[in-house]
Amino acid sequence: MIQDIAPHVFHNEYTPRPLKDLDAIVCYDGNKVLMDITAGEDKAIFPQLNDFTPEQQQRIRESRRLQYLFAIDEIGYILVPMDRIFNPGTEPVDSDWTGATGNTLRFLHIQKVRQQSDNCVGHAMMVSYHLSDWMNKHCFCGRCGSMTVPHAKERAMYCESCGNIIYPQISPAVAVAVVDPKTDRILLAKGLGEFKKFALIAGYVEIGETIEDCVRREVMEEVGLKVGKLHYFKSQPWGLTGIEMMGFYAELDGDDTVTIQETELAEARWFDRSELKEEPTMSLSFTLIDTFRRGEYVNWLK
Ligand SMILES: [Zn+2]
Repeated sequence: MIQDIAPHVFHNEYTPRPLKDLDAIVCYDGNKVLMDITAGEDKAIFPQLNDFTPEQQQRIRESRRLQYLFAIDEIGYILVPMDRIFNPGTEPVDSDWTGATGNTLRFLHIQKVRQQSDNCVGHAMMVSYHLSDWMNKHCFCGRCGSMTVPHAKERAMYCESCGNIIYPQISPAVAVAVVDPKTDRILLAKGLGEFKKFALIAGYVEIGETIEDCVRREVMEEVGLKVGKLHYFKSQPWGLTGIEMMGFYAELDGDDTVTIQETELAEARWFDRSELKEEPTMSLSFTLIDTFRRGEYVNWLK
């Protein structure tokens, strides 16, 4: 899955430090992130300080708004506001741009970066997007309305006026592979949105609800099925939507008649193993499906 970056090591302990030359410069423009695409869009990497002109480097170094995010191995990921790199209106940011080292830089869509081959880059983008989006949405204190600042010691935003501390928001959610052990089938569903593939039942954990109850409720709401035994599989942080996804196999209990929730789903049905194709397993959802396809899910049902 995308967060599996071994032998590299993700360090999410919060240890802010000054910018170093080899650190990754993380700069977002909405849903796009500045990447070095010299080796191709599919092999994009985060730029470093020396990719920028001496003037830009100076503006970046002097900025009070550089934000240490995390590190992978020894490389720090530093969030830099776009106006520290580009003067609004005077330099093109919508097209390719040649950096000071001759490298080609471009603001790439986050989905494009997510799908490229190096999990280190994909995972760093997911986590940095999550943090950048959270910081943008918490520039002001929700209690007293004053401007917030990054907390000096914790990964949090802090209100100096009233002392409010705002931690990163992570929403728990579940992905559920409903299986019928008697007939060796899996239930897949297609949503109404832009994503056109068959995937798993999924949804957010509601307030006051256990994870287990969430699994049972989502399955009943979306496809009208009752499930019995639940088998926890794995979890996955998904920064693009700020969720922590927990994956389960859930055994059908009783009638297998599917009744879809028409406000959520376009289609849902049972699949035999032979109908499934090999899929990329960057996401937990497709890892659950692929583990079923390969017959390994039975280990999880014991
Ligand atoms: Zn406040």
